[in-house]
Amino acid sequence: MKSGKPRLIRQVNDRSVFEAIEETGVSTRAELSRITGGSAPTMAKAVKRLRQLGFLDEMGMSVPDGAGRPGRIFRIARNTSQVIGVVIDYRYCHVTAAGVDGGFTGKKVTAIKTPGDYRSLVRELTQVVKKLVASGPRTLAMGISVPGMLDKSQDRILLSPNMHLLDGQRVGYDLAAETGLTPFSIHETLAVCLAEQAYGVAKKLEHLVVISVLEGYGCSAVVGGQLLEGRDGMAGEMGHIVVDVNGAPCGCGSRGCIETVSTDQSLARMVSERVGEKLEIEEIIDRVKKGGLSVDQELARALDYLAIGVASAINTFNPELVLVASRMFELSPAAFDEMVNAVRKRALRPLADRCRISPSNGDKLKGAVAAAVRGLKNSLGPTMNWR
Ligand SMILES: [Zn+2]
Repeated sequence: MKSGKPRLIRQVNDRSVFEAIEETGVSTRAELSRITGGSAPTMAKAVKRLRQLGFLDEMGMSVPDGAGRPGRIFRIARNTSQVIGVVIDYRYCHVTAAGVDGGFTGKKVTAIKTPGDYRSLVRELTQVVKKLVASGPRTLAMGISVPGMLDKSQDRILLSPNMHLLDGQRVGYDLAAETGLTPFSIHETLAVCLAEQAYGVAKKLEHLVVISVLEGYGCSAVVGGQLLEGRDGMAGEMGHIVVDVNGAPCGCGSRGCIETVSTDQSLARMVSERVGEKLEIEEIIDRVKKGGLSVDQELARALDYLAIGVASAINTFNPELVLVASRMFELSPAAFDEMVNAVRKRALRPLADRCRISPSNGDKLKGAVAAAVRGLKNSLGPTMNWR
């Protein structure tokens, strides 16, 4: 913990205090002094600034423990203020509000069917966001999960292979113009990864890969504790590695990408072609569970390709955990284990032996909220390893 007047030091102190409270759950100023090594006046100033920004709730007085006087208890804001999470997907969009601590208690999720044109999309999302802003506490920011290659420097979606109406659009910028909220856009798979890191099983993991095939094929990696974003925020497009040179056309313009053979949508497409009826993955799961449909062949093929993707990620990133999000695992009780067995055969043995593989629910909405909170934290100032 630093002391002194320069702005940067103040910013580092504010962020350290925020992160210390995040870590401990609840803290008094005296405890924060002990944890971060900052002086009492420095703590008082940092807590005051964070309170003014709406980042903290005050929770009453602590019980004296014999060593010191009682002090006010603070936690990351859940009541004082909120953030908005927006998920844009090509079938449905979802919007919710959450505490700055990521708490979702009592917060409603609104789903809207994704409109067919960009202007309607912005208009409908704006309506939902504005309602949440009007009915909740002070709103500090908005996180937006987008399905496409997002150029962070311009907040512009350069290409959305499964949702071309977003191509070239600045959806964060446009929603900000309509709602007045600070936007933090994030690629959907990075969002899932952030959610697992912030609120899921991957807390504090330094080496993690998340693969989501719920819509398109997304892969994101945390390496050495850092989310791997690349120069422009577009890293992780493993879905467009070609696995079948004569394969089906892909939304990216190429053919036979792993996205065309290993995702929930690709399985739905294969099954639809065979039965001669357009079926979504949800309908397929429903029919399989009721015993009216068998998809063993398509499932085995899709899981095998998915395993190739997971094995490649293990070989490339040497993670301690890979989380895989797919609804295909609901099609058979053995599906997940079959995929894991295939991964173990295909990945390099020393890497696979040290890596756990678990299912993920691929929660982009929590990821959008986590992106908003991360954006707010970054706006405080740079992080300093105070631990
Ligand atoms: Zn492709």
